[in-house]
Amino acid sequence: MIFRRGRDDDDDDDVDEDEEDLELVLFQGAVNGNTADLSKHGRLVQAALIPAKKLVTDALARRAEMVRIEPKGKLSTSTYFVDGISYPGDRMPGPAALGITQMLKLLAGLDPNVRDKPQSGGINSSYDEKSYEVRIDNQPVQGGAERLIVRWQDPDVTLDTPSDLGFDEALVEKIREYAKKKTGLILVAGPPLGGVTTLAKATVRCVDAYLYSVYCLAHLEKEMSHIRTFQSLEGDTLDQTITRALREDADVLFVDPIRDPDTAKTILDKSERAAFVAEFPAKDAADAISRLVKLSGDPKLVAGKLKLVISQMLIRLLCKKCRHAFRPNPRLLGKIGLPPTTKVLYRPPREDEEEEEEDVCERCGGTGYYGRTGLIEAIEVTDGIKKVILSGANPDALRQQARAEKMQSFQSDGLRVAAEGRTSLEELQRAFKAAR
Ligand SMILES: [Zn+2]
Repeated sequence: MIFRRGRDDDDDDDVDEDEEDLELVLFQGAVNGNTADLSKHGRLVQAALIPAKKLVTDALARRAEMVRIEPKGKLSTSTYFVDGISYPGDRMPGPAALGITQMLKLLAGLDPNVRDKPQSGGINSSYDEKSYEVRIDNQPVQGGAERLIVRWQDPDVTLDTPSDLGFDEALVEKIREYAKKKTGLILVAGPPLGGVTTLAKATVRCVDAYLYSVYCLAHLEKEMSHIRTFQSLEGDTLDQTITRALREDADVLFVDPIRDPDTAKTILDKSERAAFVAEFPAKDAADAISRLVKLSGDPKLVAGKLKLVISQMLIRLLCKKCRHAFRPNPRLLGKIGLPPTTKVLYRPPREDEEEEEEDVCERCGGTGYYGRTGLIEAIEVTDGIKKVILSGANPDALRQQARAEKMQSFQSDGLRVAAEGRTSLEELQRAFKAAR
């Protein structure tokens, strides 16, 4: 895979005269306030400050969201992650990698001398007129070396509103309906750390907080701005906290992820009087229903109270500047389930189409993709789905029933995005394979 070359540093004496004026990232202090006195670390600064800045600058210029440096024998490897996909970067001698690691730890207000314990910190940074919080994590690996993970969020890229995440109007409307009825459980399913909290928050955001009393009982890292956080009293059980919220006329309650049978039962019972939104660890929507039935041990309760299960996966969007249109073969269309009237689909450019390095797309750095969107799967607990739940909640049987009722699946949603020319069939194939 070809990458646009990263920006170089203009402080070097041997820099080419005609090289454009290039800018390095600015580091503006540790997030934890523990900003180091660099004059006390003269040798480290001399050896590693510019290489550390170059590493971060290069990654930012490549539109990466993360870089990982991993010791491998005498050399260390670097890996860049762009839109969730890894690309190999330069290899560097062990001492150079160690210098960068120690430098970034120091800048993040961490102790560079502590190398046998994981540490985590952040550096307030700016690059290209934008502010970033560069997160630094180090983890000890075998042989006394360390792995370094450097990551940040592009302030211009948000994947947290319902529409960023791929919710369509019909789904938003459905969520609002349950809020209005003040009843039932909406599960938001996904693998742990797979962005499921963001999806759950987006689900809650579909409900108009001016029209309804939406309370957050979940323990979130950051409070949700427009929703009242309902404090649980010390010593209160979940049941008691929910009862208090219901006394204050809650319509919708956002609760912590369901992980144990008691929580599952409490929430299902209480969803008689308010709509609940909860995260649930599962592979997809059908898997979530099946697991909830097992966890609660009560298929009848689940069939009665569970209303909707939403799940999401992220896929990359084609770069609008370099995507190639092609006329799909009608047989292929039939096989993958797209209407035979589909006139055009798009794909990323192939490497042999970029003969010269100048032909590499500036916008996406030659990856063919730029940014991501969510695919959404939603299973509504209809009478048909209820029957499957009551007869054992087999995940395959649930998927089959959902398909028969034409509910939105990752496949159907992915094909919609491909037919709109926003992603490629190759990307769908890659993402589905990775999710399996
Ligand atoms: Zn491009």
